[in-house]
Amino acid sequence: MTNDKAAGESIPAGETPVRRNFVREIIDEDLKTNKFAGRVHTRFPPEPNGYLHIGHAKSICLNFGIARDYKGKCNLRFDDTNPTKEEMEYVESIEQDVQWLGFNWDGMYYASDYFGQLYDYALQLIRKGKAYVCDLNADQMRELRGTLTEPGKNSPYRDRSMEENLDLFQRMKAGEFADGSRTLRAKIDMASPNVNMRDPVMYRILRSTHHRTGDTWCIYPMYDWAHGQSDSVEGITHSICTLEFEDHRPLYDWFVQELGIYHPQQIEFARLNLTFTVMSKRRLLQLVQDGDVDGWDDPRMPTICGLRRRGYTPESIRDFADRIGVSKSESTVDVAFLEECLRADLNKRAPRVMAVLHPVKLIIDNYPDGVVEELEAVNNPEDPTAGSRKVPFSKVLYIEQDDFREDPPKKYFRLSPGSEVRLRYAYIIKCVGVVKDEKTGEIVELHCTYDAETKSGSPQSARKVKGTIHWVSAEHAVDAESRIYDRLFNVEDPGGENWKSYLNPASLQLVQGCKVEPSLAHAQPQERYQFERLGYFCVDDDSREGTLIFNRTVTLRDTWAKIEKSA
Ligand code: ATP
Ligand code: MG
Repeated sequence: MTNDKAAGESIPAGETPVRRNFVREIIDEDLKTNKFAGRVHTRFPPEPNGYLHIGHAKSICLNFGIARDYKGKCNLRFDDTNPTKEEMEYVESIEQDVQWLGFNWDGMYYASDYFGQLYDYALQLIRKGKAYVCDLNADQMRELRGTLTEPGKNSPYRDRSMEENLDLFQRMKAGEFADGSRTLRAKIDMASPNVNMRDPVMYRILRSTHHRTGDTWCIYPMYDWAHGQSDSVEGITHSICTLEFEDHRPLYDWFVQELGIYHPQQIEFARLNLTFTVMSKRRLLQLVQDGDVDGWDDPRMPTICGLRRRGYTPESIRDFADRIGVSKSESTVDVAFLEECLRADLNKRAPRVMAVLHPVKLIIDNYPDGVVEELEAVNNPEDPTAGSRKVPFSKVLYIEQDDFREDPPKKYFRLSPGSEVRLRYAYIIKCVGVVKDEKTGEIVELHCTYDAETKSGSPQSARKVKGTIHWVSAEHAVDAESRIYDRLFNVEDPGGENWKSYLNPASLQLVQGCKVEPSLAHAQPQERYQFERLGYFCVDDDSREGTLIFNRTVTLRDTWAKIEKSA
C-alpha cells in the first residue's frame, strides 16, 4: 500500500533546527561517495505484538525525520515473523500512532509479504551448500553452540548432501514433520567468536495461524533471516536499529552477500531508556493483563496511545526525540525532561481556564444579589491570536479549599481571616467570616467583602495585594471529575525481577465534585487546557457532555524533583 503524501510531509519543514548526529553523518558521507546513487530510504520495522511506546517514538522520529530532511523515503514495515504473538489489533494501533506522531509512510509492507521470496532465497543458499536441514532439537542445539569463550561443535547433520537438504526442506514446508523437530540453518562457522555466526537458525517448524497468511505456512523465518532480506527487497539504504543488533550485523551482511542481492547498510544506535518507566512490550503487556493499569492507553503508560490520552502533543514528543539526540552509548533519560518538553509546548498552545478541583463556597456579602458581570479573560498570554473570553462573576463563588487557611503560616499570601487577595480577572476581596459544620468542624462557607474600586483592568485597579487566586461562579460552574496522575513507579529504575513491587500505589487519584468555568461545558476529548495555577489538563476519552472528565497531563512545574530532594 502506498501513501499519497511524502514521508513526514504533514510536519512543517524547519519545525526545529536539524540536529546533527552520527547517523546523519554516515548518510552525508554516503551521499558524497554516491554509495546508494544519491538515495536515502529508511524504514520503521515494528513487530505487531504490542502497542508502540515512547522508545519506538525515538526510532520513528529518527527514521521518518531523516526521510523528511533528505527528501528521501521511509517505509512502515511490520516484522510479523512470529505468528503466536502478533495480531491485527496491534497493526492498526501502530498505523494510527505513527500518523498521530505526524508521519506518513511511503510504502507499507509486511515481512510476511516476502515469505515466498524468502523461501526461494533459502533454496538458493541450500543449492550453494550454504544452508542445511538440522534434526537437533533446541536443547541439543544449545549444547553444541559453545559459549562466549569456547567454540561450538558442528551438528552431526551439517554435512548432508545438497539433494537431501533440498528434499528435507521442501518436506518441512509441506508439513511432513512435527513442530520443532527440524530447522534450516545457515552453514557458516561453529568456531566463530561471534555466536550469531555459529550456524544460526533460518527457519523453524511452527503450526500456528498467522494473522495474515493464515495456515499457508508451517515454517516461519527467524528475525535475522527475514530482516536484511526484507530491507534488500525494499531497496532500503540505511537500516537503522538498536545496539543489541550490532553483533548481528556480520550475519546481516553474510546473508545478502551470499545471495548476491542489493546490500543495505545496517546502523545501530542506543535505545531510549527513561527513569521511572518500564518500556519492554512484554512488561507493558503484563501490566495490562494483570489489571495494574486500565489498558494499553491508560494515561500512566509510556505507550504512544497512553501519552496521547494523557494529553501529550505530538509536537512535544518530536521535540523530545530531537533534543535527546542519537548516540552509540546507552544512557537513561530523566522522565522529567520529557515532561519539560511537554510543558514548553503546552505553554504555547493550551488555553487558560479556571477550574476548582476541591471547592469551598465563598460568598461576597456586599456584592449585589442577582447581578452577573461578564469579565474579560485572556485565553493565552503566550499567544495573542488566542483571543479572550467572558467569564461570569457573581456573589457566590467557589475557590480551592487549599487557598484558604484559618491559621495561615508565615508568607501564606492566599486567603485567611482578615487578609486580602485578588480574585483573578476580578476584584480584591477580604475574608470576614468562616462558617463551619457544627458536627464535623469542616469549613462550609467563607464570607468576604469586595472592594468595588479594584476591578482588574480598570484605571483604579492599581492597588496591589500579594496573592491572586482563581475561582468559578457557583451558579454558572459546570461539574467535572479529575484524574490526577503520578508516576507509575516509585523508583528511578524499576528493573529486575521484582519490578512490579515498585508500582506506585498512589499513581491515580480520582477527584470528584470539581467545578469548572462554563466555557468548558462542551469540551471535547483530547482538548488540552491549562487550569490556572493547577497544571495542564486534557479532556479524557471517556468524557461526555454533562459528565466531564479531565486528566491532569502534567503539573505547571516539576514538583517531583523537589519532593525527592527533601525526602
Ligand atoms: P521491546 O523491546 O519494547 O519489545 P522491540 O525492540 O522488540 O521493543 P520492535 O517492534 O521490534 O520492538 O521495534 C521496532 C523498532 O523500534 C526497532 O527498530 C527497534 O529498534 C525500535 N525500538 C524499540 N524500542 C526502542 C527504544 N527503547 N528506543 C529506541 N528504539 C526502539
Ligand atoms: Mg523486537
